[in-house]
Amino acid sequence: MNSKKYPAIQKSDFLVIGSGIAGLYTALELSKLGEVEIVTKENIAESNSHYAQGGIAAVCSVFDSFELHIDDTLKAGAGLCRREAVEHMVKEGPERIKDLLEIGCNFDRQAGELDLTKEGAHSRRRILHAGGDATGREISQSLVDQVLSSEKITVRENTFMIDLIKREFEEKEALIKGALLVEESADEQLIILADAVIIAAGGCGQLYRNTSNPKVTTGDGIAAAYRAGAEIMDMEFMQFHPTILYNPEGSRFLISESVRGEGGLLLNAEGERFMERYHELAELAPRDIVSRAITAEIKNSSAPCVYLDMRHQDKNYLKERFPTIYQELVEEGFAMESDLIPVIPAAHYLMGGIKTDLNGLSSLKGLYCCGEAACTGAHGANRLASNSLLEALVFAKRICEYLKEKKRAAEKDGEESYDFALDFIKKRKKEYYPIDDLEAAELSELKSELKKMMEKFAGIKREQTGLKELKQWLKEKSHYLEEELSKEIFSKTSWELKNLFQTAELLTESALIREESRGAHYRSDYPESRKQWAKKHIIHSREAEARIDVIK
Ligand SMILES: Cc1cc2nc3c(=O)[nH]c(=O)nc-3n(C[C@H](O)[C@H](O)[C@H](O)COP(=O)(O)OP(=O)(O)OC[C@H]3O[C@@H](n4cnc5c(N)ncnc54)[C@H](O)[C@@H]3O)c2cc1C
Repeated sequence: MNSKKYPAIQKSDFLVIGSGIAGLYTALELSKLGEVEIVTKENIAESNSHYAQGGIAAVCSVFDSFELHIDDTLKAGAGLCRREAVEHMVKEGPERIKDLLEIGCNFDRQAGELDLTKEGAHSRRRILHAGGDATGREISQSLVDQVLSSEKITVRENTFMIDLIKREFEEKEALIKGALLVEESADEQLIILADAVIIAAGGCGQLYRNTSNPKVTTGDGIAAAYRAGAEIMDMEFMQFHPTILYNPEGSRFLISESVRGEGGLLLNAEGERFMERYHELAELAPRDIVSRAITAEIKNSSAPCVYLDMRHQDKNYLKERFPTIYQELVEEGFAMESDLIPVIPAAHYLMGGIKTDLNGLSSLKGLYCCGEAACTGAHGANRLASNSLLEALVFAKRICEYLKEKKRAAEKDGEESYDFALDFIKKRKKEYYPIDDLEAAELSELKSELKKMMEKFAGIKREQTGLKELKQWLKEKSHYLEEELSKEIFSKTSWELKNLFQTAELLTESALIREESRGAHYRSDYPESRKQWAKKHIIHSREAEARIDVIK
């Protein structure tokens, strides 16, 4: 247990929260400007990024163009993309790919040229991949190697970011100056103060029972930013990936879109190919359309899933092109070349998050954000496949370029003093301690309940009555979690649950407010997109009621 009254305080130039692709690349780039601390709540490799399979989209062929990639992204985004963000992402993409190649990232090639594949709603082959279907692992590992060998970067694994630390001024805008952390090995709290704090802590897929996301995705970065007063945008847009392995007892393993890109067909329980009935692009229609079609087919049948069919492909080709998926399926008892693979849709990617400008700056001075935790507006209401790794890299770089300029301008934030950090700690009611087993069981039950409720009322299909019931349930349980479960003490597990509840409340409130269907947000009581909602974004902040803004 923590025996110190106050946490130790350390100082760095930059503090990066999270070691997915966004955090690693940001840390690496920032190390050219100063000292960097990167904290991550498990080991450095554990992140959504590590599991990314299909690839990273970028215009790398003479048969492709920026205009086409921009167009595909805008179409998938269902009228809600911020055009400038899309343009930056697409046009700066090839440069970021070059950066990855320079640090030794080994993308797959054919006859010496980058091998580009196609995925849903892309009009050209523009997806770079590595190790067949292990793109995230290859990019992450290349970045991890660089980060670990940098003398300018301190990596703190198993270190949990609890909250951001804000410095208030009487006559000028408040400033985010650091974060309160817990180092699990030492079981001690620690404050790191920095000139810029960059949240790259990923999304909140763990809100749902069926999700492709690993356990670390509990919305900690978004929730902490919200508590600190940052604006949070587009939370109603959670993308459901159409094809996660359905195994009632086993793992929920993602089967990449590129499997459909390479000819995979979707069949219903009757063995009928159904996607042509729903969209002209059939299996390669945008994800929201495929996910809803699958849900409808499941509802109309007695089966709990639909099936992915790759039986027309040769075993050797499948093993070579999709080594990770192939092996994982073998372990689950399926052979891709001869078995139909049972699949269901599952929560996959959050388009919303901490609202940023085009330089990754949040609404709070000193706080930056990139990757899945951020909402730059590049994905609109529905992310185009393989654009998220790209967006993470492009906006990480933009943050670093912006900070480089800012540093050059030698902006000073006031005299050096740590008093504000101590004041922040003194005001806190709850402390960090490990939990006992009894409490752990209670928390785990509450987490399962939350996932079931989110799946039922804020999943692929939503409607007003269910969302209202969910909102009320969340309110009651959040109160219970905050006030009753643990009077004076708060553990990592309970912080994660608290963060999940906070993101669930933001998502539910937004889903209730947006009375239309658009992109990944589908309301069965408002099944069409409505003109009055075009270009409108729902923005939350702690200090005010949710507001609706037009962002072009
Ligand atoms: C199975 C799967 C396949 C995918 N395939 C693709 C694909 O092919 N192409 C594509 O573009 N996208 C894909 N995605 C999406 C993509 O992987 C993610 O959107 C992207 O990697 C997010 O990167 P990130 O760095 O923002 O966050 P993450 O990679 O999720 O990293 C977040 C980091 O923050 C840390 N963290 C979280 N909370 C805290 C805290 N409180 N304190 C300290 N550290 C914390 C985590 O431990 C983690 O290290 C896939 C996602 C999944 C799950």
